[in-house]
Amino acid sequence: MLGLMNDARVETDVLVIGGGGAGLLAAVEAKKKGADVLILCKKETGKSGCTPYAVTNITRSTPQSEGELFRQMVEVGSYLNNQELLEVFVREVVSVIPGLKEFGVPMTVADGSHYHLENYPQGPQENLPGIYNVTPSAGRPLSFNLTLPLREAAEKMGVRIMDRVHATRILTVGGAAAGAVALNLADGSLFPISAKCVVIATGGSARIYERSDNPVDLTGDGFHLAFEAGADLVNMELMAFNPLKITPEVLRMIRSGAPDEKLMSVGRAHYNLGGILIDVRAESTIKNLYAAGEVADGLLGAARLGGTALAAALVFGAIAGRESGARAAQVRRSEIPAAGLEDEEKRIAALTQGTDASPADVQKDVKSIMWKYAGMAKTEQSLQEACKKLAELKAVSMKVKPGDAREKCQAVEAHLMAYVGELIAVSSLQRRETRGQFWRLDYPRSDNTNFFFNVVLSRQGDKIEIGRRAVVTTRMRIPPDNPLVGCGCFNYLKPL
Ligand SMILES: Cc1cc2nc3c(=O)[nH]c(=O)nc-3n(C[C@H](O)[C@H](O)[C@H](O)COP(=O)(O)OP(=O)(O)OC[C@H]3O[C@@H](n4cnc5c(N)ncnc54)[C@H](O)[C@@H]3O)c2cc1C
Repeated sequence: MLGLMNDARVETDVLVIGGGGAGLLAAVEAKKKGADVLILCKKETGKSGCTPYAVTNITRSTPQSEGELFRQMVEVGSYLNNQELLEVFVREVVSVIPGLKEFGVPMTVADGSHYHLENYPQGPQENLPGIYNVTPSAGRPLSFNLTLPLREAAEKMGVRIMDRVHATRILTVGGAAAGAVALNLADGSLFPISAKCVVIATGGSARIYERSDNPVDLTGDGFHLAFEAGADLVNMELMAFNPLKITPEVLRMIRSGAPDEKLMSVGRAHYNLGGILIDVRAESTIKNLYAAGEVADGLLGAARLGGTALAAALVFGAIAGRESGARAAQVRRSEIPAAGLEDEEKRIAALTQGTDASPADVQKDVKSIMWKYAGMAKTEQSLQEACKKLAELKAVSMKVKPGDAREKCQAVEAHLMAYVGELIAVSSLQRRETRGQFWRLDYPRSDNTNFFFNVVLSRQGDKIEIGRRAVVTTRMRIPPDNPLVGCGCFNYLKPL
């Protein structure tokens, strides 16, 4: 880590939280705008998060295929996509992805047709110009060839990096983001960072489920950070589970409403399709607070095409960087009130002075509740049960050995996992239908009449306020009677 901790104050123009693909691209683009940029990462920048472990299928598009890409993403997203964001995505993906070569990322073009299920050769991606793959090289795991060149480029440009530092709270002044409080994982100390703009790029929350294919750091921190700061979240119920070789038999199982162990045994929590509500400039509902990547997806709807997660992280990472870098040149730094750090110290002290459950136990309980009651197969009753149990876990003060920094961090994580789990469960209760990758065993059919909307969560004091927002459409306004139901990124079935 940089020797910044000894400074009385840590200051930057743009603070990027998260060292995956979205965070790295945000950092280099903000730097290009002349901003001073600092990346905070709770593990190691370029070697953590999902990006370095992805299969590296990345959307390839041309100006000619824009319309087709748009159409397929809306169809696969079961029409819940924010089409304004999608307009920006299909326009920018054409240049942002090939532009990675500028940072030394080696890429090849592959034919996308082999991603179809054998039985459904005419499925999505049929008419798109293949897909990009990052080229492997000796001595480096595949996707490190995406993230490490980006990290090297960022450092060469003068981006500062603080690894093994966990952002626990966004600081606001006058309703605008003004920095963050960070937890040094080496010694458990908290310190404030002052920034003109903050970009949250902390990835998803798949590791709050018992079964997941994500690395351990994906615990949904950004949802907690943003929501606590007062930013709205959208589509939190839309969680993708992978890999499941979906067959007509499995689809019938979902639609028959019969809870089935077999169904639960084949899937893994994979990807958050919802997250921090952003506009086309990647700004959240809090001024100067931006978000990009898996933590911010609203453009993908209820399911996604393979390759679009990395592409979305990189495209909106670039946008968040450009926009925050430009904004930072216009705003003055706010003086952070001392109360921000003090409040956070008190909050964490209250979480870690209990005598009963250990942080590891609480984490385990959250994962088991999420999987059992709010996972692939859920009902009104199971979701109510999840909300009740998660609210209890959220209130637990954990047993942490004094001076044990690792356990302290685990406790901070355990609390936010319960917090994020509750947001997902609350949101899932609002959608009484099955659509895309969102399955309700008690409501096995899609229902455009009553549920063609986005669920928006806002914070009102300690309460979660639930709102319904009309789906933002630009080109494709009317959903079909039976939108696609699917699983995984490539396996979509025509409705029964
Ligand atoms: C096995 C697997 C294969 C995949 N394959 C593909 C694929 O082929 N194509 C595709 O499009 N998508 C794929 N995906 C999805 C894709 O990899 C992710 O959606 C994408 O990489 C997310 O990028 P990100 O930058 O938003 O987040 P991440 O890359 O997950 O990075 C998040 C970063 O935030 C840090 N962080 C988290 N919390 C904090 C905190 N509180 N303070 C500081 N730092 C924090 C993490 O340590 C990490 O550095 C795959 C995912 C998995 C798990």
